Amino acid sequence: MPPKSAPTPNLSVEHLRLTSLINSMADGVMAIDEQAKIVLYNAAALNILDINTTMQQMPLRDVLKVFGKDGKPVDIEALVAATKIPATNRDYLLHYTDGSTANLYLSIAPVHRGYGQAGERGFVLVIRDITREKSLEEERDEFISVVSHELRTPITIAEGNVSNAELIASKSGDMNLVKQALKAAHDQIIFLSDMFNDLATLSRAERGRLTVEGAAINISTLVRQLATNYAPQAAAKKLKLEVDIDPTLEALNSSELYVREILQNFITNALKYTQAGGIVIGARPAAGGVELWVSDSGIGISRGDQEKIFAKFFRSEDYRTRSTNGTGLGLYITEKLADLLKAKITLTSELNKGSIFMIYVPNLQ
Ligand code: ADP
Repeated sequence: MPPKSAPTPNLSVEHLRLTSLINSMADGVMAIDEQAKIVLYNAAALNILDINTTMQQMPLRDVLKVFGKDGKPVDIEALVAATKIPATNRDYLLHYTDGSTANLYLSIAPVHRGYGQAGERGFVLVIRDITREKSLEEERDEFISVVSHELRTPITIAEGNVSNAELIASKSGDMNLVKQALKAAHDQIIFLSDMFNDLATLSRAERGRLTVEGAAINISTLVRQLATNYAPQAAAKKLKLEVDIDPTLEALNSSELYVREILQNFITNALKYTQAGGIVIGARPAAGGVELWVSDSGIGISRGDQEKIFAKFFRSEDYRTRSTNGTGLGLYITEKLADLLKAKITLTSELNKGSIFMIYVPNLQ
C-alpha cells in the first residue's frame, strides 16, 4: 500500500474563507506587500475609500490619500515603511473627489509572512470612518466649554455680592445695602437653578429618556390656568394678559406635561421680551389636533435671528435681550419636546412689533 500523504491544503478554499471573513468586517482592511502594492482588501475598504474598481496591485499612495490635522498631505508609503510596531492614529482626514472629507482611524501593523510571496514582509492596514464619533466629541467639548462659561458669570456675581453683603454688615451695617447685595446674589442663584433645570431636561430629552404619555387634555382649562399663573408677572410689568380660546375646541390626546412646558417657555419669553402692550395665549382646533399660540407686542426678532433662536445657547445680540437673564436653552428644549409630541412650531415676528410662537399639536394615536 502506498504511504498516506498528508492532505495538501486546498488553497482556494482557504482563500475564500479568508476573503469572506474579512469581507464581513465593518472596518476597512488592506494588506500590502513590501513594494506598497495592495494584495488583499475587503469591501469595507472600498466603501470607505469610495472606490468602485479593483484595488489589486494598486500602489497604496494612489488609493489612500490622507491628510494630517494641519491639512498637509501625509506620505502614506513612507509612514507605513517606517512602522516597526503596530500603530494607530485617529487624527487623519480623508479627502473625497467631491470635496467632502471624513475623519479616519488608521491602524498599521507590520506582518512578516504571507501576504505577498511567502516569507515576504508586508503590512496590514485597518481603516475606519470616525467622522460621527469625532463630531460628537467636538460637540461635547464645545458644550462643556459653553456651560462652564455660562456658569462662571452668575457664580462670580453671586460670590461678589455675598462678600459685599458681609463687608457692609461688618462695617457700616447699612441694612438696605446688605439687602440689595443679597437680592443681586439671590437673582443669580435663581438663574443658576433655572440653568440646571434646563440642562437636566435637555440631557433627558437628548438621551431619548423622555417618553410621551398621551391622555385627554382639556386645552381650554390648561390655557386659562396658565393665564392665571402668569397674571401677577404680567401685572408687575403692566402688560395685558389675555386668552383667545375657540369655543369649539375638543379634548386633545397628547402629553399635558410637555404641552404645558412648551407654552410656559413661550409665555415666559413673551413676558421677558415685551415692555409695553400685551400677550395673548390662544387655542383653536386644527386638522387632527390643536393649534396653540402665544403672541406678544414685544421687541420682535430680526429675520436673521429667527433662523437661530432654536439653537442651543443662542441669545440675540439685541441689547434688550442682553439686559434680561436667560440661558438660551428654553427654545432649544421646546423644540426637542415638540419633536416628541410630533408637533410643529412656526414663528412669525417683526422687529419692534412683536412675535407669535405657534405650535400645532396633533392627537397622538
Ligand atoms: P433665553 O430666553 O433664555 O435667552 P430662549 O431659548 O428661550 O433663551 O430664547 C432664545 C432667544 O430667542 C432669546 O434670547 C431671544 O433673543 C429670542 N426670543 C425668544 N422669544 C422671544 C420673544 N417672545 N420676543 C423676542 N425675542 C425672543
